[in-house]
Amino acid sequence: MKKTAVYPGSFDPITNGHVDIIKRGLRMFDELIILIAYNQNKKTLFTVEERRRMIEDVIKDCKNVRVDCSDGLLVDFVKESGANVILRGLRALSDFEYEFQLALINRRLSREVETVFLMTGYKWFYTSSTIIKEAASLGGSVKGLVPDIVNLRLTEKFAIPRERS
Ligand code: ADP
Repeated sequence: MKKTAVYPGSFDPITNGHVDIIKRGLRMFDELIILIAYNQNKKTLFTVEERRRMIEDVIKDCKNVRVDCSDGLLVDFVKESGANVILRGLRALSDFEYEFQLALINRRLSREVETVFLMTGYKWFYTSSTIIKEAASLGGSVKGLVPDIVNLRLTEKFAIPRERS
């Protein structure tokens, strides 16, 4: 049976921590769908379309992976897309409680869908989209923590010099 996983998140914007999970996920599953899960009422730095374009740029050389977006129930998307696994990344302890709740509610909503966790790569332990946006908004360099295209888009958003450290 073909194993397809959905990797959901806000990806506002995608970071190298996300990319690490994507690459490792691709070694475990036949197909991966990166899902931009959005909520119309939630304020984000990048629009869904901007986020999608950045992710597409990052995965342009990878096979068996695509991007989609949804503002609906995650387990419905997973089933409709023919997938059977939700892939999530785990960082420090702070992720655990929320991820645990999410996995349990999704399991309650659908018994056919399992959540699989990958432990963050040690280099990305402290990397989150939130901290990246905060640093970039104040003029800090986030080079090396995000894909080059994201670094560029952040500097455009905040109009800061690209190489400042
Ligand atoms: P963030 O928490 O950075 O705003 P998302 O909501 O887009 O990011 O997260 C989507 C998934 O990716 C979640 O399971 C989250 O725990 C995971 N993730 C985010 N950043 C990292 C990282 N640096 N290493 C491993 N997993 C991560």
